[in-house]
Amino acid sequence: MARKIGSRYTAHRVLGRGSAGTVWLGEGPEGAVAVKILREDLAGDEDLAERFVQERSALLSLDHPRIVGVRDLVVDGSDLALVMELVRGTDLRTRLDHERRLVPQAAAAIAADVAEGLAAAHSAGLVHRDVKPENVLLDAVAPPGPSGAPPALLTDFGVAKLIDSPRRTRATSIIGTPDYLAPELVEGLPPRASVDIYALATVLYELLSGFTPFGGGHPGAVLRRHVTETVAPLPGIPEELWRLIHQCLAKAPASRLRAAELAAGLREMLPELEGVPPLDIDEHPEDLVDEGPPTAAYPAEPPPTEAGTPPRGAVPLVHAGAGPDSNRDTHTSMRVPGAEELAGGAHGTARNPRATGEPRAGSARHRLAERRRRLRLGAVGVLVAAALGIGGWLALSDDSTGSQRAPAAGYGSTE
Ligand code: ADP
Repeated sequence: MARKIGSRYTAHRVLGRGSAGTVWLGEGPEGAVAVKILREDLAGDEDLAERFVQERSALLSLDHPRIVGVRDLVVDGSDLALVMELVRGTDLRTRLDHERRLVPQAAAAIAADVAEGLAAAHSAGLVHRDVKPENVLLDAVAPPGPSGAPPALLTDFGVAKLIDSPRRTRATSIIGTPDYLAPELVEGLPPRASVDIYALATVLYELLSGFTPFGGGHPGAVLRRHVTETVAPLPGIPEELWRLIHQCLAKAPASRLRAAELAAGLREMLPELEGVPPLDIDEHPEDLVDEGPPTAAYPAEPPPTEAGTPPRGAVPLVHAGAGPDSNRDTHTSMRVPGAEELAGGAHGTARNPRATGEPRAGSARHRLAERRRRLRLGAVGVLVAAALGIGGWLALSDDSTGSQRAPAAGYGSTE
């Protein structure tokens, strides 16, 4: 059903739903557009309309081939809408879900496109703050780049800032998506351009490997890993490519490359990456299958210890609120963890590192490995039970005294 947005636009049908609102295929005076109507609870924020006006000229002036252009910002009664250039194609998350891992050349080409968009935005003083595969659109209509990858455009510019109300995000809260959050944000520092570089390096790592470097499990654990863990090189990754990723995942923002440097570095290595196959990360690729977000809003808290206190390393950094957020959704109500919480040594932190190649607690690989371990234990248990059962039965049948033996039942239970 068509819906009027202001006096100039009509929204025709829903293209997709995101964490900040619903994106519609619409029409305006200049033809087809994408219209993002912000979520009602966000639009209900008193300050938002004001920030729409404040941000208007900055967002409208951001004109770059690698950025989805904002054409208009509309305040219409209770509706707040961003009118954007329409990109015909798909988003990078959808592509990644299909392919699991991209060939290095395509991954680097996409990341270089995004880095170019970021370079333009950063030089205009704008920080994206929510770079992730969901916010990268792949243009299926434009001619593909030299590597055959469709041109990539960064979307949702300014949305994090618009929804970032002074009341919602004082120094104690963070807006963003846990898997992609730079450590300085977790520590409560204001977002600068380098947070986008960190997030983009995370995306590039994910395109190559199928998983993010610090993701998996409770969002609080993810935040803590950004601060305390370091990444190991992906097996088989071309050295130069790893050097760039590693530098951009530096904990110290000043050590990261600038967007233009990253774009140039990636472009330079594209010819060398030609023909390099996807990384062979795991002998069992099914181990990398993401089982999707947990069915509950967040995974259940670990059981308390005997003393009644949660085990060390299991202190939740984020309230397990009733929101629909998953680790891949833009979170609007994360709080900055305290120093003590950050020092809480998760499974596999810099203080207590995991062995190389060992999956991180809570990650998709870890959950699968755990399930396999339990199945193996179960199978062994069943065999032991069967052996003991038969042995016991033989012993009992031989037992002329008729004394009672403990039954073997129970060995077969898994956990
Ligand atoms: P999120 O909030 O998760 O970042 P969005 O609200 O930006 O998601 O987008 C929701 C859906 O709308 C996505 O599937 C995306 O592909 C689509 N979409 C967003 N912006 C555009 C656009 N400018 N043109 C075409 N499709 C878009």
